Amino acid sequence: MSAQCQLREFKDQQKDGAGVATLSSGAPVGDVSTVLTVGKCGPMLFQDVTYFDEVASFDRERIPERVVHAKGAGAFGYFQVTHDITKYCAAKLFDTVGKRTPIAVRFSTVARESGSSDTVRDLRGFAVKFYTDDGNWDIVGNNSPIFFIRDPILFPPLMHTRRNPQTHLKDASAFWDFNTLRPETTHQLLHMFGDRGIPNGYRFMHGYGSHTFKLVNCKGEPVYCKFHYKSAQGIQNLDIENSNYLQHYDTDYAIRDLYDAIARKDYPIYNMSIQVMTFEEAEKCKFNPFDLTKVWPQGMFPLIPVGRLVLDRNPTNYFAEVEQMAFSPANMVPGIEPSPDKMLQGRLFSYGDTQRHRLGANFMQIPVNAPKVCVKNYQRDGPMRVNDNGGGAPNYYPNTYSGPEPSQRVRDLQQPYKVTGDVHRYDTGDEDNFSQAAVFWNRVLDEPARKRVVTNIANHVINAEEFIQERTINMFAQVSPDLGEQLREAIKLRKPAKM
Ligand code: NDP
Repeated sequence: MSAQCQLREFKDQQKDGAGVATLSSGAPVGDVSTVLTVGKCGPMLFQDVTYFDEVASFDRERIPERVVHAKGAGAFGYFQVTHDITKYCAAKLFDTVGKRTPIAVRFSTVARESGSSDTVRDLRGFAVKFYTDDGNWDIVGNNSPIFFIRDPILFPPLMHTRRNPQTHLKDASAFWDFNTLRPETTHQLLHMFGDRGIPNGYRFMHGYGSHTFKLVNCKGEPVYCKFHYKSAQGIQNLDIENSNYLQHYDTDYAIRDLYDAIARKDYPIYNMSIQVMTFEEAEKCKFNPFDLTKVWPQGMFPLIPVGRLVLDRNPTNYFAEVEQMAFSPANMVPGIEPSPDKMLQGRLFSYGDTQRHRLGANFMQIPVNAPKVCVKNYQRDGPMRVNDNGGGAPNYYPNTYSGPEPSQRVRDLQQPYKVTGDVHRYDTGDEDNFSQAAVFWNRVLDEPARKRVVTNIANHVINAEEFIQERTINMFAQVSPDLGEQLREAIKLRKPAKM
């Protein structure tokens, strides 16, 4: 049943009729459409608790929307292992070929508000929560294998460029000012202003864990790893005309497309694979393997198939299961660990912090976020703690009263490792910003795709101040003189002729 017929489906399911309306206390109410007044014209009575109950709830309906990734869609399903990767990773979800693990997925745009159109040019979030036998594992990725920046302290300013602080309008000067002053953005900008910058909904795009992670096998042996999940539906993008049309006439196109596909049992599938790099390879690697503005070339680090993600259930309630769905890269399971990737390290803090702000200290107890395994620890109390709060079990450790004990299995997996270096704030702004962007421009894009990139950048940067346009041309010229020249010509064509 499509999104439009949802209420009819609900009605059909109510075999015993509608049931009786109640207050939030559960008490049945005799009237839900009139307030209690003295005489027909009022005034209202202070004792109208039915009204107060109703409107006090309404007044509190909104929680803070996510600062980024606010506009989104969610779905549920399973991950199934198709290939054995136990030689790399001891995580329980990979332990047997054929094994299924329940998943929740949230797709989103990145830089726009929750009421905005979901067919704009932007990255797309692609976050997956695996409810594993060892607790929840979240890969909080995007539809891009890379990102704009490689130092997490630049994330707030990057996102601030999307709205002018005075006018609250989009501001091309701010956007290109920041991006050209931080040219590590070049590679991601080329992807975003390319065809895949406006995917056709969420079914026809790939997903990437984007960061470098660390996998550990059952002997405690580590490798570095990247995650890819490629759409089995294939890639489909929207051209400018279709995107413009949908931005005006169907601002929720991507949410609807996902919902309707699952409702008609056309289940989206994404094939998961990994790339693996040994520690020795990482030491000798010509590029920084922990730099989020870079991919690992697939010719050097081939994709190793792992399994598939299948989305076969729609949310039963958007707010309960999608708006409250809370991801954090810090949710890892034994066998999966962070790498030194600074962007990942920054997000290990930032995501949990956001969720505690949006949803409260006990957000992990909200059903969609709660692990499917029993949670036992020494955390207690706090607002909205709705589980049994540990009951009468000891709330301190060590104890002699059978409180939960640390796991030897996990200790064996988490082998010590060496880190050396001088403590310093290292500016990485000039660290090889163009070589992979050049490969993308020269080898991956064909001539028509290159032309579309130039057109898309020119249409955007033309709204920036002139000196920033010039800096933008110079930045892209470092990818290829040809790109710089084409962009200069395209910008010139868009300028009004001087009298
Ligand atoms: P390969 O030649 O082995 O593969 C090229 C990759 O680019 C494929 O994954 C392809 O996806 C993807 N691609 C094709 N068109 C676009 C587009 N318009 N926007 C984004 N991605 C696209 O590449 P290498 O691994 O040697 O990397 C070369 C360049 O390809 C990189 O610098 C990067 O810009 C880009 N790329 C690399 C990825 C990686 O993880 N190595 C992943 C995605 C992009 P598909 O399989 O669907 O055709």
